[in-house]
Amino acid sequence: MPNFKEICLIYDPKFLEHDTEGGEHPEIPQRLRVIKKQLENGPLREYINIVPPQPATREQILKIHKDAYLMRFEEACLAGNLTLGHPDNRICYESFDIAILAAGAGITGIDEIESNNNKVIFCLIRPPGHHAEAALALGFCFFNNAAIAARYWQEKFNRKKIAIIDWDAHHGNGIQSAFEEDPNVFYISIHEHPTFSFPGTGYSAEKGLGPGVGYTLNIPLSPGAKDKEVLDAIEEKVEPALKSFEPDALIIAAGFDGHIMDDMSGLSYSTKLYGQLGIKMDDFARRFCSGRIISILEGGYHLDALAASCEAYLAGLSIKT
Ligand SMILES: [Zn+2]
Repeated sequence: MPNFKEICLIYDPKFLEHDTEGGEHPEIPQRLRVIKKQLENGPLREYINIVPPQPATREQILKIHKDAYLMRFEEACLAGNLTLGHPDNRICYESFDIAILAAGAGITGIDEIESNNNKVIFCLIRPPGHHAEAALALGFCFFNNAAIAARYWQEKFNRKKIAIIDWDAHHGNGIQSAFEEDPNVFYISIHEHPTFSFPGTGYSAEKGLGPGVGYTLNIPLSPGAKDKEVLDAIEEKVEPALKSFEPDALIIAAGFDGHIMDDMSGLSYSTKLYGQLGIKMDDFARRFCSGRIISILEGGYHLDALAASCEAYLAGLSIKT
């Protein structure tokens, strides 16, 4: 019987109240329900500890987003609008406050890990964040949870160099734009090739701008790519990049929509891959940054695959070696 570390799920039932009206919309409350249920009924159940997030402060969000955008988002919710900009970005009356709480989960997770880094932190949140730009909601994302967390980690705990590894099926354009000129935040993304996939960014030639050149690493994979392509990319590209960057902390933008059963991408990953990713991410955190790692949920829309993949990831991440 393997032994697992304590797993802190940063979670609040309010995340279920971000109402995208179900129907055809894939980013639904049920996503979190199925993950929670799977964890509470599976082999990790005795290691799970739920920690409620504190909402992010306006000041913390403004490190990444524009004030006028916050006002526009809040007003749209209070006015009863059903979308923010594009129809993909469904909102309800409570969505602004819930997005602030989701952004706060990363911050709460960082406080947890800084007080005791012998546990696994997973932010079980929605709405997701990695497509959100400074002044633009995109692809179901409103606030860039991972980017807000990165700035908080740097400023509150003086963890100067942050690596963000994003293996959601889609390129995290919002994280890239937040840090593309910043040599202290290394954004690494493995995703389906932008020619075939939303949002159309993340070509391998995008390597950062100005002083940030060399601190953005995009690894696009062809449609149909399987576990091997991901594991090869991690070994041949991600690991050497981390080795030379020497991060002080690691943030994982954990999306599960590359799963073969998930029709939001053409990628063909197995559930098992996510277990291997968990083992790899834990190994990187221990080798490169004294175990300082938090993971934040991004995409994943096939409910059964999402729940099983997330459980596999957390098992890999938390297994005691
Ligand atoms: Zn995605």
